[in-house]
Amino acid sequence: MEDTFGHHISYLRLSITDRCNERCRYCMPEEEQAWFAREEVLSYEEMLRLVRVGARLGIRKLRVTGGEPLTRPGVIEFCQELAAVPGIESLGISTNGTLLAAEREGETMAQGLVRAGVSGLNVSLDSLQREIYQRSTQRDLLPRVLAGLDAAVAAGCASIRLNCVLMKGQSEAELLPLIRFAGERGFLLRFIELMPVSTRDVLTEENFLATGTARALIEVETGPLIPQPDFKTNGPALYYRVPGTEQRIGFIGAMTNLHFCESCNKLRLTCDGKLRPCLGSYLEFDLRDALRAGADDAELERLVLGVVARKPKEHDFRDNYQPNRRMIAIGG
Ligand code: SAM
Ligand code: SF4
Repeated sequence: MEDTFGHHISYLRLSITDRCNERCRYCMPEEEQAWFAREEVLSYEEMLRLVRVGARLGIRKLRVTGGEPLTRPGVIEFCQELAAVPGIESLGISTNGTLLAAEREGETMAQGLVRAGVSGLNVSLDSLQREIYQRSTQRDLLPRVLAGLDAAVAAGCASIRLNCVLMKGQSEAELLPLIRFAGERGFLLRFIELMPVSTRDVLTEENFLATGTARALIEVETGPLIPQPDFKTNGPALYYRVPGTEQRIGFIGAMTNLHFCESCNKLRLTCDGKLRPCLGSYLEFDLRDALRAGADDAELERLVLGVVARKPKEHDFRDNYQPNRRMIAIGG
């Protein structure tokens, strides 16, 4: 599938729940959360049907996200079915990591996911200091995340990445410890610029720390980072090598990298069945109604292609964008 700007669409992010067991202050600040009612959220069968349609149209990579996807019952079995969809070549999960070491039927969730065919785990980790972690996520769960990472390694997960959202006044002291931690364990660490996607206004001058500033702070300790223009993962991260080591680190600068959207290959399916061509645009198209009204596969394919045709050239984040939906409902 190709849109009008030459983006080649092969990647679907699938939010399977809007619920979460943490309350990161940049995502879901502590407040009364209005969750979707159960019947508003797509069933696994409905999601699988849409994934099969997508795969026929050229979707090759899937990432399951949320909310916290590991809080939805049956996620391991669901992943097993996703991995078996013809055409799907890779399946990843974005998680806060708090449940990876939890036991389910005699195995850790990490083992279950790897067995189900999940090859990549993206784990959010903003700090290695318990107090800072707690302040950032509003939950004292750092020990569980660290145990979760150990469980992911023990389960033989092929690729483990760490994501740290940059917050001014907090992240500066975390940069080097996180780099060391990731380097020692062979995890690929990425620093993410704050985006305007939460229920509350967190993207303020006070909170925003640009990837360029973070890089400069790191370089004070490490010396100039070495650009790795040929190293690409699925997303828009720019990678650098830490001098004197083989370790690469990434920077995801949605706000300051003006080329951010050029190689975008993504669609997003929200847990209530809206297909979004871009995280940073208001456009979304309801597939749930069509699905539940009995649309056949040809009709669903037509709808998906219509969404691809409406994919914007770039996101609207720099245009005083106000979120119309929480990130957890879209699936980051
Ligand atoms: N709960 C899982 C997790 O935390 O990884 C998956 C969902 S979370 C919404 C996906 C990613 O979005 C995480 O890496 C998180 O750090 C990031 N994220 C959430 N709010 C953000 C914001 N305002 N700006 C930038 N990234 C954000
Ligand atoms: Fe939950 Fe992930 Fe959002 Fe944090 S970033 S509140 S863990 S969905």
